[in-house]
Amino acid sequence: MSVTSNASSTESPDTDFRIDAGWIITMNAGNDVLPRHSLIVENGRISACLPWRDADVQFAHLPAQNAKDSILMPGLINAHTHLAMNLLRGFADDTPLKQWLENHIWPTESAHMGTSFVADGSELAIAESISNGVTTVNDMYFFPDEVAKVCRKAGIRATVGLLVFDFPTAWAGSTDEYFSKGIALHDACKGDPLIQTAFAPHAPYTVSQKPLERIATLSSELDIPVHMHVHETAFEVTEFVKAHGVRPIQRLHDIGLLSPSLLAVHLTQLTQDEISTLAETGVHAIHCPESNLKLASGQSPVADMLKAGVNVAVGTDGAASNNDLDLLGELRTAAFLAKLADGDASTLNAGTALRMVTIDAARALGLEHEIGSLEHGKSADCIVIKPDLGMIPVYDAQAQVVYTNSSPCVQDVWVAGKPLMRNRKLLTLDAERLYANAARWSEKIAENANLN
Ligand SMILES: [Zn+2]
Repeated sequence: MSVTSNASSTESPDTDFRIDAGWIITMNAGNDVLPRHSLIVENGRISACLPWRDADVQFAHLPAQNAKDSILMPGLINAHTHLAMNLLRGFADDTPLKQWLENHIWPTESAHMGTSFVADGSELAIAESISNGVTTVNDMYFFPDEVAKVCRKAGIRATVGLLVFDFPTAWAGSTDEYFSKGIALHDACKGDPLIQTAFAPHAPYTVSQKPLERIATLSSELDIPVHMHVHETAFEVTEFVKAHGVRPIQRLHDIGLLSPSLLAVHLTQLTQDEISTLAETGVHAIHCPESNLKLASGQSPVADMLKAGVNVAVGTDGAASNNDLDLLGELRTAAFLAKLADGDASTLNAGTALRMVTIDAARALGLEHEIGSLEHGKSADCIVIKPDLGMIPVYDAQAQVVYTNSSPCVQDVWVAGKPLMRNRKLLTLDAERLYANAARWSEKIAENANLN
């Protein structure tokens, strides 16, 4: 019996193409930067990387994207954010963290929290992320099912946080409900090529020992990461010691949460012994320098962690405490701060810094076999950066990306070979609708807070 189909099986799918780039920043083990090379993408995966002249011979049949005056590199990974907080960008600025959270952010969130707040806010943040070259986000927020839905629709890769708090919120009314909803979402995301989950207990001071023990067990059973704010401020550590007699990191260690599954965000307060413990246990540090600067939370000892062998990735945190999701800008801040803190201009060089938003961030999320570098077999999550007047001349492509204002030069973005932005035009999101949504929400939020 023969089977016929109207669909042609010989046509190249849209996810087969080549990109001819001036420089390819590979982020492979050797941090190689390849001048005048082409990246070959077949079925959304990288099948080869070779000089232009060889690509012209071997892959002449593939549609070519001309980026011969541009830099091609892996898509960026934002290792910590709260996407929907884009709706609160610029709200209650210049306020210390405790008052900022307790008097402004949490009351405002509880007044407006729901599926449409999360969907609209996340969509705005994804648009901003894509236009800054971000192809993967690690999110922590209420209604993670909505976050997953919006990410899926936009075509961005995401790890969505299964949020846990001790107290009830609009997302869940009890500890059990946080877990049951979280696990249901985890099950629903199984097999999704772009969306994975992580447990996201907010912080040691908002999630008590019992639920943290449950998370330690479940994360190991389900083999998923744990994403948590840890040691963000000195105040938080002091208060925890007063209440429990140990520092939060010691408590997490006792529970068994210090492991390669943990992504510990902020870490501005660390002793040398704690740095050694993080290195020994394989915890990933997520550095958010601009949020720490803006909220005057402190400075994470990045150079010391790197020297000790701790894997470090970078995140922007939410737009309310940053106030943007410009990950390359964040990286520049991280690099400059580390140099100043260390008193050494060679600290956190451009190549090492770039690893923190590509391959090392992928490692933190357990995705290093899939993304984070442009290598054979990996998913074609990549971006083209076309240097403008502020980026030329290009002596060192990596340094130019890290130390200049490169985000506005991101031209094209692909995830798994699917284009999400072409010539700075978003392809999966409607920009006009985003502006209208932001205006509608800001009016509502300002009215409620008596800002009008
Ligand atoms: Zn955060």
